[in-house]
Amino acid sequence: MLNALTKLFGKAAPDIPAIGEAQWASVEAGLPFLDHLSPADRARLRDMALEFIAQKEWHGAQGLELTPGIQLSVALQACLPVLNLGLDSYRGWVGVIVYPGDFVIPRKLMSEDGVVHEFDDEVAGEAWENGPVLLSWFDHPEEADGMNVVIHEFAHKLDMLNGAPDGLPPLHEGMKRRDWIDAFEPAYRDFCERVDDGEDTWIDPYAAEHPAEFFAVTSEVFFEAPDLLHAEYPAVYEQLRQFYRQDPLR
Ligand SMILES: [Zn+2]
Repeated sequence: MLNALTKLFGKAAPDIPAIGEAQWASVEAGLPFLDHLSPADRARLRDMALEFIAQKEWHGAQGLELTPGIQLSVALQACLPVLNLGLDSYRGWVGVIVYPGDFVIPRKLMSEDGVVHEFDDEVAGEAWENGPVLLSWFDHPEEADGMNVVIHEFAHKLDMLNGAPDGLPPLHEGMKRRDWIDAFEPAYRDFCERVDDGEDTWIDPYAAEHPAEFFAVTSEVFFEAPDLLHAEYPAVYEQLRQFYRQDPLR
């Protein structure tokens, strides 16, 4: 079993050594969307990232050597959404598997007539319910094409805290399910229409695939380009602000 897992998921990462200021700075230079954080929040995020690295089991797949730089970068991005929610939001699973670039997941689907179709699905990331998070690592973030795979997959993890991902994560006290739906439903419908009309949307058209993808993609945009999300879908921005307990626009 262990052998099979190693074959599938690659090698476990060694423990990371103490991190100096220069290394933090070099990793954070690649994550400009952290710039709005106050020095105190930045320090909190670093502590959380180290704790997250220690709590999870890390693997580099397909020969990718997981350097401390890669782990720190992934951990900082993974922890950003839960900076004010706590690491407990990522409970119930341990694996973080990092691939060198896009990767292929062999799929099996049974159609209604009972025929099993096997095909390879090329993806940049995937979050398994009660299982690991699979991520692509891009040495040059521009290869990722405006996406933030890490925030995307970890948003799915939050969505899965109350069952299969549906774009409605467990809301905090004081938030209303009705407000969430009233914000997200019309925005999702509008976005799907724009994509269907062939509009070259700034928000990744993949968001039109499913309400769960719309939540994950708008979460990426919330942290990476908050002004844009606020301009296009202010009600969605407002719900995400309440959900993540952060206001990146401020
Ligand atoms: Zn997704």
